[in-house]
Amino acid sequence: MDSNDTPPDDHADDGDTDLRDAPARDRTTDISRDVDIDDVLDDEEDDSQGLFDDLLAGEPIFENKEVLRPSYTPHELPHRNEQINQMATILVSALRGDTPSNILIYGKTGTGKTASAKFVSKELESTSQKYDVPCEVEYINCEVTDTQYRVLAQLANKFIEKNQIVIEDRLDELADRRTAVTEGDTTLADSPFDSLDSLDDRIETLETDLDEMEPVPMTGWPTDRVYSSFFEAVDYHERVVVIMLDEIDKLVEKSGDDTLYNLSRMNSELDNSRISIMGISNDLKFTDFLDPRVKSSLGEEEIVFPPYDANQLRDILQHRADVAFKGGALTEDVIPLCAAFAAQEHGDARRALDLLRTAGELAERGQADTVEENHVRQAQDKIELDRVVEVVRTLPTQSKIVLFAIILLEKNGVHNINTGEVYNIYKRLCEEIDADVLTQRRVTDLISELDMLGIVNAVVVSKGRYGRTKEISLSVPVEETEAVLLSDSRLGNIEDAQPFVQARFDN
Ligand code: ADP
Ligand code: MG
Repeated sequence: MDSNDTPPDDHADDGDTDLRDAPARDRTTDISRDVDIDDVLDDEEDDSQGLFDDLLAGEPIFENKEVLRPSYTPHELPHRNEQINQMATILVSALRGDTPSNILIYGKTGTGKTASAKFVSKELESTSQKYDVPCEVEYINCEVTDTQYRVLAQLANKFIEKNQIVIEDRLDELADRRTAVTEGDTTLADSPFDSLDSLDDRIETLETDLDEMEPVPMTGWPTDRVYSSFFEAVDYHERVVVIMLDEIDKLVEKSGDDTLYNLSRMNSELDNSRISIMGISNDLKFTDFLDPRVKSSLGEEEIVFPPYDANQLRDILQHRADVAFKGGALTEDVIPLCAAFAAQEHGDARRALDLLRTAGELAERGQADTVEENHVRQAQDKIELDRVVEVVRTLPTQSKIVLFAIILLEKNGVHNINTGEVYNIYKRLCEEIDADVLTQRRVTDLISELDMLGIVNAVVVSKGRYGRTKEISLSVPVEETEAVLLSDSRLGNIEDAQPFVQARFDN
């Protein structure tokens, strides 16, 4: 290490360095305080070339942009009263100490499922505290926590943590009591203990319990062991537990229905506590993949979140816009247009909010005084392009090669591209970059997948006695898509391989 890099503190290894250095550090701060802060600011103003001044000077469009972000949890959820009340009517049992029925919630993305579930869970927990009834809600997003092991481990650790807090509080109480008794300040009369010995026994038991509460590691244990850890942790004391499994379809898709099977039969074995499951799914048909027993237990109650229509989306946007934007920043058409676009997109409130935020950002960037209709249209294009870029970027390599073949054909002016043509170019590209060559049948499947993702459009046309073929065209912008493909290191060299395609058309 260069001596200049050595930190000023050259006693770093001394045991008492921290203590000795502490005052010195304070002195440094004091010195900097002696400098006149206004001088510094003045200097900096003079130094700047006004890069940010123009941007700051323009009347900002936003009052509070955070309110339009997906991470923001609204306090009010217009047009979801019915669903929220349905949930509450079922979950209120938990506050009476009974086990609520399991609930399955369905609805497409952006229909307010997560926001409503979180709202209800907050209310449930605060009411349970108000009335001092033992009821707890655990929320798990199964898109992130997507295996049985992880779901059980996460649940186990949450309950272990809660139990530890309860035990530590209780131990503090008992220790205080013990001191008070030994000092003669109080007696054990109004306590469950008939002697100091029995109090000590209790303290010892709790301390052992605390020692034995070992957190579950995020990998490595056999699943049975994780399951029993969770089981013991929940059953440690009396309570009703509501487990919210959001994006439950992702869990089932990735890891089957074992988790749900195990969770749904726990109640018959628990002694002190009860579990109720609330599953939330974006996929209306996901129960088709479930074991019939799991299906009937999980779906005791079902609540559907229908898509929002354009009017409802307007209300939702208006509520947020009032807080998010400066007064008068939105022209009259902006909210209706965002609502209309999002209504076409299966009534997705997330999309509506994204559009409104992006339109505001574009207006701000263009230093416009107000957000206008054209900003919303630009925002729609931008969001659509971002989606395409993301989908293309995350395609498997083979699909990327197939897509690249289609792009090359389009760029060379081939219309009504058929599968055979794609396959020929695809094969050449694979050879150029040393990739495995799949069969034409598999490539046809990959084309169908690209069609489903909305990247290409493939229609089957009849060629009379020549049979049927697919006519393929690109549904996304050529230049941008090509750029995304070429940014993949495995496809990067493909650019050099393009001339042969040209040669093929010159013939
Ligand atoms: P889902 O879980 O169904 O995909 P979310 O609950 O995540 O949908 O909602 C998507 C976005 O739309 C979130 O930002 C949420 O705050 C907002 N949102 C959805 N429904 C409403 C509503 N009724 N009122 C206000 N905001 C809503
Ligand atoms: Mg959600």
